[in-house]
Amino acid sequence: MSAELNGLTIAGALDGLAKKEFSAVELAHAHLKAMEKHRDLNAYVVETPDKALAMAKASDERRAKGQVGTLEGISLAIKDLFCTEGVQTTAGSKILKGFKPPYESTVTANLWKAGGVMLGKVNMDEFAMGSSNLTSHFGGVGNPWRRQGKDGRGDNKRLVPGGSSGGSASAVAARMALGATATDTGGSIRQPAAFTGTVGIKPTYGRCSRWGIVAFASSLDQAGPMARSVKDCALMLGAMASYDPKDSTSVDLPVPDYTKALTGDVRGLRVGIPKEYRLDGMSPEIEKLWHEGAEWLKKAGAEIKEVSLPHTKYALPTYYIIAPAEASSNLARYDGVRFGLRVPGESLDDMYEKTRADGFGKEVRRRIMIGTYVLSAGYYDAYYLKAQRLRTLIARDFDRAFKNVDVILTPSTPSAAFAEGEGTDDPIQMYLNDVFTVTANLVGLPGISVPGGLDGQGLPLGLQLIGRAFDEETLVRVGGVIESSANFTAKPAGY
Ligand code: GLN
Repeated sequence: MSAELNGLTIAGALDGLAKKEFSAVELAHAHLKAMEKHRDLNAYVVETPDKALAMAKASDERRAKGQVGTLEGISLAIKDLFCTEGVQTTAGSKILKGFKPPYESTVTANLWKAGGVMLGKVNMDEFAMGSSNLTSHFGGVGNPWRRQGKDGRGDNKRLVPGGSSGGSASAVAARMALGATATDTGGSIRQPAAFTGTVGIKPTYGRCSRWGIVAFASSLDQAGPMARSVKDCALMLGAMASYDPKDSTSVDLPVPDYTKALTGDVRGLRVGIPKEYRLDGMSPEIEKLWHEGAEWLKKAGAEIKEVSLPHTKYALPTYYIIAPAEASSNLARYDGVRFGLRVPGESLDDMYEKTRADGFGKEVRRRIMIGTYVLSAGYYDAYYLKAQRLRTLIARDFDRAFKNVDVILTPSTPSAAFAEGEGTDDPIQMYLNDVFTVTANLVGLPGISVPGGLDGQGLPLGLQLIGRAFDEETLVRVGGVIESSANFTAKPAGY
């Protein structure tokens, strides 16, 4: 079989495997070859070819015996935030370099149980803090897409794939994995999906277990899938989600077969357009796509309604208080004693200081300092407590909106992918990437990003849907209609 196997969708690959057109081993080989070919993208931080082939072989043997999981034989990339037993897990940080967890995260264990095959660990912003993948200790990741320019002659600059799940996005977009795990604390699944023309789902908080995922901001972190179609994400989510007593915030609800939600029927569904998301100075291309998305749904029989989420303007500042506060507490465990890096010092305190100064990158240190500040006596009430109150008000906005609509449609990001240096040195500018996505994390609601089209430069743009808690099925259903209406068939040149 040819190397083109890596160009299939998960659903297509499952079909080919079932028909014995190729084996899981051949599928893994095709991906390992693509990974080797596109190492310049720096998407993988660890490649696990031996493991991939052994897992694929075991999958083929299971299939021969009639034991077929929902992802039987499917080659997957794993974000380096998920603990994988015996395989280096660093969260993109120097402080965890060389750390080989003695256990497997629940989400990845679920994927292996479903028959998934691990290709390796993919790059990410350090501790999932960032929107460009440039904060990774292992260097930035290339986006396989390039600006084409209006005349087909773009500037050919290397663009970022978004972040923090930049490696997941790039690996999927460049056909180096059929799907990837990712995590989303403020937008890290949906923003990179939008930047790379892929689909990403951030499930409801509590849908996927956080056990064994390196913590960033525990009340916001959620794992989810990235893949090249809504159906593929639905398949992956069904395998990743579970109730897990090891995560006290995991929810004991049955996991539906999300692919069944792909009915193509949105007649009578009420779709909300939040007026506060129409930002001043919004790019006309994004605005146009948003309008187009609403028109597609209307044509398919949905009802479009304006809704108001009046506290939207406080979402970013609220997020950038709560996320650093929780991060500063979570990251206290990296003390040079228990995991990874240790830089010797003259005293215990000196060792802590030297280890943390050397082990954490600039953005992580900035977040720890902001977090420590907003939690300190005297500022706790003024910042942290106020942010928590705003979080409640933002949640009430959504409660009210969902009385009148079934799903909310917004753009995924305020821009298409950018190059290093185009605002990437300015933290505030980077934080603005999350303007449309953070609200869903603050209130725990599920969101999906689906490619909607290309901008004038030939770069992908995404549309976001936000749904009711534990109603990922509506996101899949409506996302499927957007996907077919957009008929997004473009591919990054050369992949
Ligand atoms: N870009 C956001 C941040 O830097 C979100 C990151 C994420 O979702 N992990 O915090």
